[in-house]
Amino acid sequence: MGLKVARLPLAPIRAAPVKVADPFYASPAYRAWRKFVIERAGGACQAPGCGKREGRMFADHIVERRDGGSDLDPANGQCLCSHHHQLKTHAERARRYGAR
Ligand SMILES: [Zn+2]
Repeated sequence: MGLKVARLPLAPIRAAPVKVADPFYASPAYRAWRKFVIERAGGACQAPGCGKREGRMFADHIVERRDGGSDLDPANGQCLCSHHHQLKTHAERARRYGAR
């Protein structure tokens, strides 16, 4: 008889955490929405004139959730590359907090 080795549950592999710890982003409904939005775009960035495909694409809420945009309406989703996702995030921040 060998030693009994405690079997620890393996941590599930997850996507990189979203900045804000919002359980919404871990929900199966959100994951399904994100997958749909990215696949609908053929995995290509939908920013005008971009069309870039990267290993990691972002499903962006066109109208942000905290601005009342729908969480899970496919019409409120667009697929963005990391560059355009960052541009949008910065633009939203500037609009929200005022560019000084
Ligand atoms: Zn792009």
